Amino acid sequence: MKTQVEPYGSYDVIVCGGGPAGIAAAYSAALLGVKVVLLEQYGFLGGMATSGLPILTFHNMKGEQIIGGFAQLFVDYLKKLGGTPGHVPLQHGHMKTITPIDPEKVKIAAQELLLEQKVEILHRCLAIDPVLKNNQVKGVFFESKGGRFYLEGKIIIDCTGDADIIAKAGMEFELGDDSGNCQPMTMIFKINGIDSQKAFQLTDEEIVVNPHYDPNSNFAPIFHITTQFKPWRQIIEKEGLFDGIADHRAWLMCLYQGEMFINTIKIIADSLDPAALSWAEISARREAHQIFQFLRQHVPGFENAHLSFTPVKIGIRESRRIIGDYSLNKEDILLGKKYQDTIAWCGYPIDVHKQDRIDSYFQYVEDQGEYGIPYRCLLPQELENILVAGRSISATHEAMASFRVMAPCMAIGQAAGVASALTIQEECSSLRKVPVDVLQRTLKDQGAIL
Ligand SMILES: Cc1cc2nc3c(=O)[nH]c(=O)nc-3n(C[C@H](O)[C@H](O)[C@H](O)COP(=O)(O)OP(=O)(O)OC[C@H]3O[C@@H](n4cnc5c(N)ncnc54)[C@H](O)[C@@H]3O)c2cc1C
Repeated sequence: MKTQVEPYGSYDVIVCGGGPAGIAAAYSAALLGVKVVLLEQYGFLGGMATSGLPILTFHNMKGEQIIGGFAQLFVDYLKKLGGTPGHVPLQHGHMKTITPIDPEKVKIAAQELLLEQKVEILHRCLAIDPVLKNNQVKGVFFESKGGRFYLEGKIIIDCTGDADIIAKAGMEFELGDDSGNCQPMTMIFKINGIDSQKAFQLTDEEIVVNPHYDPNSNFAPIFHITTQFKPWRQIIEKEGLFDGIADHRAWLMCLYQGEMFINTIKIIADSLDPAALSWAEISARREAHQIFQFLRQHVPGFENAHLSFTPVKIGIRESRRIIGDYSLNKEDILLGKKYQDTIAWCGYPIDVHKQDRIDSYFQYVEDQGEYGIPYRCLLPQELENILVAGRSISATHEAMASFRVMAPCMAIGQAAGVASALTIQEECSSLRKVPVDVLQRTLKDQGAIL
């Protein structure tokens, strides 16, 4: 194997992973003028934001906007591209707004925004081993079709969603609940050719109406439906769909007329075990085809539909969490705690998709408010010059089930990017020495809400 001894490049900040957290981190660091590279294993940016899910959520349960900054800038950019109607209010349900987004426009928005800030993007590059000297990060190795290469960097931000780089540094991590069980995985798939008016009748629960519906626009009259397919219980049981659980729940996202992204498959497997993960991919894709056949045969509105897309990979709700300088817990969230080093807010409830149940259970922040995410949760113990952003920051299983959604992950990513740039520019000896007041002020200057 070809291993480059000379660095492939030298940067101030290396961001590993280009999902919601990674794009926010790379953009926000580069905005402050430092030299940033982003490594992404796939040929596009956006991570789970490209799977057809709406962004949850910029608002607390009072309906107040509590996340701004890069996340809002991203939505504004998407809006200009016609890739989102913006924040859409909900009449009931476990949040006050959702923000439907077009996955293809997410890919283009993410790359163009990062290129505007001169972030270097290295696609099809899997970040593997960090290079450490006395627990100080010096760079990272990545694997590519051309061989294994080394990037020199002053700071690494691990936005892989799985804390890959921290695990490779040999650090301990946490996984799942007290028994090690993670939330189930789901492969979201897309169906086109639906008669939307007829199909919308299948809702028996939550429905999110397009408040500005215009028949001349591409946007659908209804953006989101939750259903348990109640009228088809007997068929579901007979055909053994959804593991034979008749009141299994589905979340259906319908940004444009005639199409629907379906979030309903539940796969329980160890995402860190190659064979188990492979089986998860295989069985989820098989199930997508089975569910599509069921819809086409039995559910009005799907008669002429076709399964148009399954994603590059199954969606993993939960894997490694780092052990950081502080671990956010359930009480912190429910009590709406804020900290001297809060770098982002989140108002989304604890939303655990249990392994042994058909859906999620919710626990809400008191007084319909928001809680703070401390900077310390981004700092892995025992390591210097490395931060984690996104769903794998330091927290308990239940706490993670709240901030894991995309808007808070972007806000956390932005804080990681700004902290990295400030460490370099303020000549701090370590990420831990960044003056928190300067970090918070700079985040606010970038539009973050704190
Ligand atoms: C089934 C499902 C449904 C969900 N529903 C919603 C929803 O409706 N709304 C919502 O807001 N959130 C939802 N979430 C949660 C949300 O999508 C994720 O938690 C969020 O995207 C996490 O952001 P992230 O940037 O940490 O990770 P990710 O979005 O997973 O991004 C990680 C990125 O890093 C890349 N990567 C990984 N490892 C490496 C490596 N070693 N080297 C290089 N690149 C790497 C990946 O390819 C990816 O681009 C859902 C999640 C799942 C799985």
